[in-house]
Amino acid sequence: MNPLRSLILAAAGSDAVRRLVAAAPGTSGVVARFVAGDTVADAVTRVARLTGDGLSVTLDYLGEDVTEPAQAEQTVQTYLALLDRLYGAGLAGRAEVSVKLSALGLRLDERLALDNAHRVCAAAEQCGTTVTLDMEDHTTTDATLRVLGELRRTWPWVGGVLQAYLRRTGDDVRALAGAGSRIRLCKGAYAEPDEVAYSRVHEVDLAYVRCANLLLAGDGYPMFATHDPRLIAILAERARWYGRKPGSYEYQMLYGVRPDEQRRLAGEGETVRVYVPFGEHWYPYLMRRLGERPANLLFFLRALVSR
Ligand code: FAD
Repeated sequence: MNPLRSLILAAAGSDAVRRLVAAAPGTSGVVARFVAGDTVADAVTRVARLTGDGLSVTLDYLGEDVTEPAQAEQTVQTYLALLDRLYGAGLAGRAEVSVKLSALGLRLDERLALDNAHRVCAAAEQCGTTVTLDMEDHTTTDATLRVLGELRRTWPWVGGVLQAYLRRTGDDVRALAGAGSRIRLCKGAYAEPDEVAYSRVHEVDLAYVRCANLLLAGDGYPMFATHDPRLIAILAERARWYGRKPGSYEYQMLYGVRPDEQRRLAGEGETVRVYVPFGEHWYPYLMRRLGERPANLLFFLRALVSR
């Protein structure tokens, strides 16, 4: 991993840097580029606009690594309120939710996170929509896949995420490419040690294509989360090669990243889902986005000094 990215990801865990960034005058403008707002109402307004443009959505209530059961409960309550609002607004057909298990208490107790996830899934089913479990750093991979397996016994439509940069992911893809599975494939956003993850860009890209082939050859529903133009071109070619029609897989991109490309693909008849984060705990999410692209960091630094 390049040293600048490692530094930014290290800063993502620092409370002192968080306070500095939060207090800087230009921060709110940068946050607004990547985060849909603080509240459920802000998020639902944004969903209405995106779906009006022919895009699908997955919503993430920002927050991770909760240290108290009460914080996990607050996360559950927010998801329940969100699902209720989406249903009421007639948007649940095109908007699902993404959930981080560490926001539901995974680091406190796996059982607590599982029970909380069941509650979110039950509400999603009632609204006629789905849930995808985000994947966090490698220390949570086994637990997240265990919880995914448990949830799928009751809610077979629950989606999971696999990260191409992890050396183990080929095996995980093989295990999860079967009928009924919904797997989001991403490169991976955390600072990981060399023993568990590829660090060279081209190794990660090659791993991504290998995993994409396995998913496309399988009977599940692959969800390709990437903004990488080269990968998107390869995915389009591989999907055709495997005889996959649009609608039997989807592309996913982050809110605020390559919006023109999102609309271009949707215009070609592809399913494109935008990952829309909202809530006040935007700091680690923003730092991961800044780490992905030096131009974002420049944009951020310019915003900080331009007021
Ligand atoms: P990169 O190699 O990072 O970028 C390729 C090109 O895409 C860049 O050159 C640039 O043109 C464009 N681009 C990429 N990122 C940005 C950006 N932030 N701003 C502007 N342009 C950009 N990671 C996880 O670890 N767990 C998850 O659960 C997870 N869920 C995700 C869900 C979605 C819908 C998406 C899109 C990503 C998710 N990620 C997740 C993040 C992912 O792992 C990558 O860190 C992120 O998508 C950047 O990788 P990339 O494939 O876009 O390629």
